[in-house]
Amino acid sequence: MRILLANPRGFCAGVIMAIDTVDEALKIVGPPLYVYHEIVHNRHVVERFVKLGVTFVDTIDEVPENATVVFSAHGVSPDVRNRAKQRGCTMIDATCPLVTKVHMEAIRYARQGYKILLVGHAGHDEVVGTVGEAPDAITIVESPDDVANLSFTDDDALVYLTQTTLSMDDANVIISAIKAKFPHVKEPPSDDICYATTNRQHAVRYIAPDADLCIVVGSKNSSNSVRLTEISASSGTPAHLVDDVSEIDPAWLEGVDTVLLTAGASAPDHLVEEIIDFLRTEYGAVLDERHTTAEDMHFELPRSLRVLRESAV
Ligand code: SF4
Repeated sequence: MRILLANPRGFCAGVIMAIDTVDEALKIVGPPLYVYHEIVHNRHVVERFVKLGVTFVDTIDEVPENATVVFSAHGVSPDVRNRAKQRGCTMIDATCPLVTKVHMEAIRYARQGYKILLVGHAGHDEVVGTVGEAPDAITIVESPDDVANLSFTDDDALVYLTQTTLSMDDANVIISAIKAKFPHVKEPPSDDICYATTNRQHAVRYIAPDADLCIVVGSKNSSNSVRLTEISASSGTPAHLVDDVSEIDPAWLEGVDTVLLTAGASAPDHLVEEIIDFLRTEYGAVLDERHTTAEDMHFELPRSLRVLRESAV
């Protein structure tokens, strides 16, 4: 058996920053530390922090007054920030800067009177946060069918934005439908689908035709991980999303000679290493690293955390 190991894969700069933020906040304020929503969408990351004394909450009302709360990498709406402020909470904002960029675009276009078509998945934490920046101006568009049902006119100033972790192919189909129906629609100033999503998808699209099977390490609620399985499948290579090696079904590997192995942007690399060890031990697999795009992105820790650290000295 051969393992085609995709590069880049796994942690992106936003996830590294968000995880480092929680680790650092724990050092400064200690447990209990509250995190609004999963810091990143990965079960193993969340479970490690729970063991260290982090409490993950779905509403700000669950955070005690005057406690410290970290906002996840997916971003939050102004309403969440306001409610945390009213409770006297110390806020640490670990929103990925590339998500913040989309928030800023939404605010700016709404102020300029645009109606905003947000291409994304309704209910995803990131989309909920972005919509909260300009709820009266934003319409979520999930499919070409949604576009067909839109009733804007040529007199409406329209712009589209996208969730950062969409499939580029799926987004392009929807954007094409938007442009066909509303030729006057304005494009965003730059791509909203982030570099990490783009690069991981490109790697799978490029390598999948050489593999019989694709294994993606990531959690089921990780949007970018799910997209990787879809891209492999659309290339003709069946794909499975696993949280870790224990979820691999040996039946998947019957008659399989070449496995493409990758990981979503929130999946720790030690989980990938464990799968490599398993395939080596059980199937005599040899490793063949495939590199498609070099990455050197890095995000600073949030300013709110640096201020907290300085005040604690
Ligand atoms: S996947 Fe992209 S937008 Fe999301 S945290 Fe990573 S770099 Fe930021």
